[in-house]
Amino acid sequence: MTGYGPQGLALAPAGGSARDLIFERIRAAGQIARVDIARDLSISPATVTTLTADLMSRGLIEETADGRGAGGARGRPRVALRLRADAHVVAGLKLGDRVVTVVLLDFAGRRLAERTTPAGPVPCDAEAVLASVEDALDQALAEAALTRTDLAFIGVGVPGFVATETGMVHWSPTLSVCDVPLAQLLEQRLGRPVAIDNDANLLAMAELWFGVGRAMRDFIVVSIEQGVGMGIVLGNRLYRGTRGRGAEFGHMKVQPEGALCRCGQRGCLEAYVADYALLREAETALPHAPLAPQDRLEKLFAEAKAGNLAARSIFHRAGRLFAIGLANIVNIFDPELVILSGEQMRYDYLYSDAVREGMEANSLDLGHPPVELRIHKWEDQLWAKGAAALALDRLSEQLLAGEMADA
Ligand SMILES: [Zn+2]
Repeated sequence: MTGYGPQGLALAPAGGSARDLIFERIRAAGQIARVDIARDLSISPATVTTLTADLMSRGLIEETADGRGAGGARGRPRVALRLRADAHVVAGLKLGDRVVTVVLLDFAGRRLAERTTPAGPVPCDAEAVLASVEDALDQALAEAALTRTDLAFIGVGVPGFVATETGMVHWSPTLSVCDVPLAQLLEQRLGRPVAIDNDANLLAMAELWFGVGRAMRDFIVVSIEQGVGMGIVLGNRLYRGTRGRGAEFGHMKVQPEGALCRCGQRGCLEAYVADYALLREAETALPHAPLAPQDRLEKLFAEAKAGNLAARSIFHRAGRLFAIGLANIVNIFDPELVILSGEQMRYDYLYSDAVREGMEANSLDLGHPPVELRIHKWEDQLWAKGAAALALDRLSEQLLAGEMADA
């Protein structure tokens, strides 16, 4: 058992009691003895015994034999605590522009099922989104021999401007309408509690709960797909900003009075780096190529590689502005790690040495080694796991709050 969730303790989390910290510690450890919890959290063994008894009576954790063998002179097996895997099931979904990906996890964070189903063309109306979510979810549930009533919580990742606190999608490239109360609509449709978030935030959640970010306090995930997204983790927690929206890296201004962005403003990073921006420029570099957008993009990239100067300049400019954007982020947040992820990562101009050098050249030199930059392979499944982490987070919050009220 390796556990899941941030390994570092979030110091003074909002409303975090000693019991919540113990719960988080058990979750992160996978399994852990009471004596080790007491040591790690500097809480007395008697308090740990009382609070873990409470978590156990609520069905959240259970005892298990400690794999590290017998303890004590008489060889009595040591007892450890772990999350009760079958206590709850959650679902995480990522809405892509061509597919919906679902993952089902048990309460111990283990995968029960995973499914990717084709989705209709985007942008579409809310009804079409509800239908594709419903369809994808039911297929995943059938694979795990479960029904909707088995789901304790559902997390959904949506590209665009998403307010997780209110469950509103203010704008999304997958939706043809603005200001959709998507979480509420999904709850009505599915009959289960639903939380939604910006998909880049959920990619950061996936790294924080299941990936390299588990062991890091401060890191940043940049995703490049249709648009440019960013998730910021500070002090082992996802940073969401005041309005619950989080970072809009794609709309950082990199060029005054520059190219027109989808958001209606000018000079945004996205207006140089995203698919649609590259395709817009492709008109001049590939004048006689009647191709579907994705093929056109591939062709543009192939042309740039083959030495087409116009095509090459499009990618070079995107890479240069991307490097400046990254440097600005590094200068503000001083993260331990920057992870680049997303479908676009297969176009190497965004993670070339030139981008790394550009980022370093524009970052403040304080005599420290430059920030680590890593490329993570793009997988829809990872994004869906981030959505499942959101579901587990909300569920745990609810369960612990309920217990507080009872206590
Ligand atoms: Zn913009």
